Amino acid sequence: MRKLKAFGQHFLRHPPIAERIAGSLQLPDDAGRHTVIEIGPGQGILTQFLLVLPNTEVFVVEIDRRLPPYLLERFPQLNGHIIEQDVLKVRFEDYVGTQPFWLVGNFPYNISSQILFKALQYRQQVRQVVGMFQKEVAQRIAAGKGNKQYGILSVLLQAYFKTEYLFEVSAGSFDPPPKVQSAVVRLTPSDAYEKTIHNHAHFTKTVKQAFNQRRKMLRNALQPLQYNFDVLPPNLPQLRAEQLDIADFIALSNAFVAPV
Ligand code: SAH
Repeated sequence: MRKLKAFGQHFLRHPPIAERIAGSLQLPDDAGRHTVIEIGPGQGILTQFLLVLPNTEVFVVEIDRRLPPYLLERFPQLNGHIIEQDVLKVRFEDYVGTQPFWLVGNFPYNISSQILFKALQYRQQVRQVVGMFQKEVAQRIAAGKGNKQYGILSVLLQAYFKTEYLFEVSAGSFDPPPKVQSAVVRLTPSDAYEKTIHNHAHFTKTVKQAFNQRRKMLRNALQPLQYNFDVLPPNLPQLRAEQLDIADFIALSNAFVAPV
């Protein structure tokens, strides 16, 4: 089968790597049934290991119409569980209702940020995200302040998830090999920071605006939002976005919004 660049198709060649991704999902050891949604199953190298996880119902979301017939033939138990759509357009609730779910995949790299923003959007329902990303994105997800990778994605994700950089995968492990190295990351929702954010939309806006001009002092970078800097600790407006940790960003955005 010809791999399509437009769909970010780089298929894993080694089953043990796929098995390790599946094994990185932390499913509770209870009697309940767990819903796992795989994004971009391709020919099913990862799917085969998801299907044998105990007490698990697997859905797969695949945009390439050539693949579902192949997947169904290989895994008849996927009948009724293949969502033939662009994952960015899928309303997960249409398939899983209000049940919690785990998101997993060797993700198409061209839409990895959008997948992460979608996970953020569903954070109340997502129990965990385990995914393969290009290494640079994986580093950004997990980067802390002062690091050159630290940016919008780091702050927004770390405000809502515990992020773990799990392991790296070389380009040669894929067919065709991508131009970049890859790494697997795990995100687990955590409300430690979330509870302290007064206004989520405002928090997002503040973080984006601050990093839009990341070399500028916050006082200048945030000018367009017309905040009153007088209510902040005096040193804060003089720092640059990359010098603020998650709690600083929350304090910054909270300082402008009356708690509800
Ligand atoms: N998991 C497989 C394939 C990874 S390649 C493996 O490891 O071998 C990425 C997969 O995502 C491809 O199957 C591609 O067709 C699919 N894909 C790309 N864009 C998508 C989208 N917007 N929605 C759903 N699937 C997508």
